Amino acid sequence: MTRPCAPPSNREATATGKPESGADGRMGHSTMIARDKVAAFLMAHRGRYFCEPCLGRAVGIDPSTGHRAATRIARAGGFVREYGVCSECGESRLVTRAPC
Ligand SMILES: [Zn+2]
Repeated sequence: MTRPCAPPSNREATATGKPESGADGRMGHSTMIARDKVAAFLMAHRGRYFCEPCLGRAVGIDPSTGHRAATRIARAGGFVREYGVCSECGESRLVTRAPC
């Protein structure tokens, strides 16, 4: 997999105390947590901006979970949160996007 700009590989597993890839080595979609879903979605739509409700709807989580997920990936994963126009709903509000 070639990426022009790879995301930071430092997961915040140590920060949360919850290792995301267990010793069993299973990393299926079912084990993806909201934060990972949001991060993966944003990386897949790099260059677009998404507000929290749209992010939540896109990955199938509720808006409050979307808010927490967006806040965390911005802090730990290098994602950018800023005021802008959501690429999905067109609202001018706090949006999140993938780095570079
Ligand atoms: Zn939106």
